[in-house]
Amino acid sequence: MVIIQLKPHNLTSMANINIDAAKASTYDVIVIGSGISGGWAAKEFTEKGLKTLVLERGRDVQHIKDYPTTNKYPFEFEHRGELSLAVKTENPIVSRCYAFKEDAMHFMVKDKEHPYVQEKPFDWIRGYQVGGKSLLWARQTQRWSDFDFEGPQRDEFAVDWPIRYKDIAPWYSYVEKFAGISGNNDGLPELPDGEFLPAYPLNAAEDYFRKVMKDKYRNRHVISARCAHLSKPQQVHFDQGRAKCQNRTLCQRGCPFGGYFSSNASTLPWAARTGKLTLQPDAVVESILYDHQKGKATGVRVVNRLTKEVREYFAKVIFVNAGALNTNLILLNSRSERFPQGLGNDNGLMGKYVAFHNYSARITAEYDGLKQFATDGRNPAGGGYIPRFRNVLQQETNFKRGYAAGLYASRYMYRDDSAIGTTLKNNLLKGELGPWIVSSHMMGETIPKESNYVNLSSRKDDWGVPLLNIAIEYDQNDALMKQDYISQLTEMFSEAGFKKITPNTNSQNPGLDIHEMGGVRMGHDPQTSLLNQWNQLHACKNVFVTDGGCMTSTSTQNPSLTYMALTARAADYAVKALSKGELT
Ligand SMILES: Cc1cc2nc3c(=O)[nH]c(=O)nc-3n(C[C@H](O)[C@H](O)[C@H](O)COP(=O)(O)OP(=O)(O)OC[C@H]3O[C@@H](n4cnc5c(N)ncnc54)[C@H](O)[C@@H]3O)c2cc1C
Ligand code: SF4
Repeated sequence: MVIIQLKPHNLTSMANINIDAAKASTYDVIVIGSGISGGWAAKEFTEKGLKTLVLERGRDVQHIKDYPTTNKYPFEFEHRGELSLAVKTENPIVSRCYAFKEDAMHFMVKDKEHPYVQEKPFDWIRGYQVGGKSLLWARQTQRWSDFDFEGPQRDEFAVDWPIRYKDIAPWYSYVEKFAGISGNNDGLPELPDGEFLPAYPLNAAEDYFRKVMKDKYRNRHVISARCAHLSKPQQVHFDQGRAKCQNRTLCQRGCPFGGYFSSNASTLPWAARTGKLTLQPDAVVESILYDHQKGKATGVRVVNRLTKEVREYFAKVIFVNAGALNTNLILLNSRSERFPQGLGNDNGLMGKYVAFHNYSARITAEYDGLKQFATDGRNPAGGGYIPRFRNVLQQETNFKRGYAAGLYASRYMYRDDSAIGTTLKNNLLKGELGPWIVSSHMMGETIPKESNYVNLSSRKDDWGVPLLNIAIEYDQNDALMKQDYISQLTEMFSEAGFKKITPNTNSQNPGLDIHEMGGVRMGHDPQTSLLNQWNQLHACKNVFVTDGGCMTSTSTQNPSLTYMALTARAADYAVKALSKGELT
């Protein structure tokens, strides 16, 4: 063994090396996760001149370059776009998700790659890569209204939201203009209007249904789905390098036009252009570091996904945007003498009151009318949207809250494929359009409950991080809501003269609804909530949660637009607080 006697000047240079190393790992802001909300945090902070490190556990996915299937023809896929039996058998959980098909499965976590513990059955659908699930989402984007923010207080569940619509409305406008949202100003108080690009119109059958609903009901509206697609790009979208959506509806493969909003096409390259962004893929955040003396978080501990090397990074502000359940995991795993139950978890409520959406009912029917019309081309927005109409102004049913519904109609080509040889060939050339097939799916609000929770299991993953234990289930309220959806939609379809109405209430595990929320909820009171009105941990003010983890309740609207708006709002607050010296 060689013993080196350190002379004073050696000690000084070692100290310098340490200082230099710490400096090289120090940023103004650390953002954990590069998905929809993390991308927005990156954009906001870098635009405002802050040196920002984005840590992403998954691999890098660069816009266009890393969309390997985007221009493939159906016949270029080995299984014509479907899943092979081997893939299904290997992946019983994720293959239950409609998006897990041959063309997009490289953007989704396979069952064996990242196990978790199902205390109760839960299909956890994830995308671990730069861009997160922003590459996969269905891009439905609706604002919340005060019927949603006031919901818990009015209907006596969860805790009161510390914000109201007026607090977030300007931020909805802000993110809508940049992301590009198609839609109409429909003038409905329960679904506030926004800064819209032209809507994708309803087709003949959807529009017919809209008219019938308007005639027969006071409060049941069918509107064009509001969707994060560039139907008519503006200068700000061209500046992002994005172009008009071409209505290909192959979005889940990644869009080479940047026709829909994703972190990869929009916020991350925008942030990179400022020169202030460091994006670190393959960086699994294990925990957030807390300094008891300073009374604040100082940085994060990261395990390299490929080498397993452990590193620490430091910053004045930390935004946790790992996707709702993973954000819970990271915070629960950030234990210190001051926070033995997880960072900011003084009241023991972290990981509890997790809620989601109830997508477990569908209904289809046939319509024989309007045969003179068919669809030509594709609608990337998906079709129509029926905003919540139950219990809006007052309680009118035996369950709390309500549901929105999707609505789409199409005609399919029918061909006789029963023969063989030349007859088959000739029959296949003679397709005939069938009747309109009309479908709807339910998007129900669920009630956050203490008994729906996540916590840390004693088992660890390959990076030494505890596996997440998930105990979440539907309840009686969800069952009653589902019955009501089926009976109301049956009635509405009957009013429109639709036939062969077929409800589908096949049971599915929670999780497939893909909108997990809560566990680190916002609220007024540190005794009953984890975050304040600015998404700051009550007990550790330089840590912010602006993904689904922060949600106090779930509403019926798709959630991601609200995460974007909350993120931009919280980042603006954090920058101002930093400049006033409040977070240092
Ligand atoms: C098929 C499908 C359709 C959907 N459709 C819609 C829709 O129409 N409308 C809508 O509003 N929402 C939709 N969603 C949901 C939407 O995708 C999510 O709400 C949204 O992506 C959440 O954004 P996020 O930033 O919280 O998380 P994500 O986009 O999931 O990003 C989180 C990122 O954090 C990373 N991460 C996790 N843990 C760590 C860690 N320990 N260290 C470092 N990085 C970490 C992940 O790898 C990921 O990249 C859909 C989702 C799916 C799967
Ligand atoms: S529909 Fe639009 S956004 Fe989707 S892949 Fe096609 S061009 Fe891109």
